[in-house]
Amino acid sequence: MAGDDRRSAPFHVSHSVAASLGVAVDHAHCLLRSIEGCTECSPHQVTLLMNSYYSLLRAAMENAARVVWMLAPDKRPERVLRRLRLQAGNVIMSDELCEVGGFPPKKPKAERLQRIKDIAGQAGVSPTEAIKPAGNKQIIRAAGQHIAGDANHAEVLWRACSAASHGDIWAALSLHERRITSENGDVFTAYASASTRVLTTFVVETMAVIRTAVLLSDVRNQPPY
Ligand SMILES: [Zn+2]
Repeated sequence: MAGDDRRSAPFHVSHSVAASLGVAVDHAHCLLRSIEGCTECSPHQVTLLMNSYYSLLRAAMENAARVVWMLAPDKRPERVLRRLRLQAGNVIMSDELCEVGGFPPKKPKAERLQRIKDIAGQAGVSPTEAIKPAGNKQIIRAAGQHIAGDANHAEVLWRACSAASHGDIWAALSLHERRITSENGDVFTAYASASTRVLTTFVVETMAVIRTAVLLSDVRNQPPY
């Protein structure tokens, strides 16, 4: 990645990879900690929550997918371009926050974006493309395509995690196990509980994205990269 870093400097590809991997693993770690019981007094206890795990999985998935998206292209200019697009997204989001919060931005947005365009020009990639931020949906789909040749599958998992975070009804109906306790015409009352089958599937799929991100990072750290 040293060559990528030189071209995207000071927005190093390797720094972005390390940061995103850190965020992904941080969320996966939190998931593990919240499932496992206390190692001292209840080592065999397991807690299965219903919705919050999917919020953690979404964050882990998005960040690992960001690494996969950035590092998957074989050609260096495309990796540099993607790194710059992430930086453009960072500029746009941080500038929006300053505006909403009434904080004075340290530098004008136009100046920060122009800097990205200048770096792109020197690296031989399109300055116009370099300031187009990439959305999570696009990134997740690209990761799914790279890992399993199935962008839709990745998007479905990601959407389900998002819906669980938002408390959308369709997610509750799809992700949880439920036992109908009473029915009255079209209205039913149900007892819902966490589905270990669904949760396990989502954890396995998310870990596959993290594993691919780590592997790609290793590959891009080998010569001649
Ligand atoms: Zn304890």
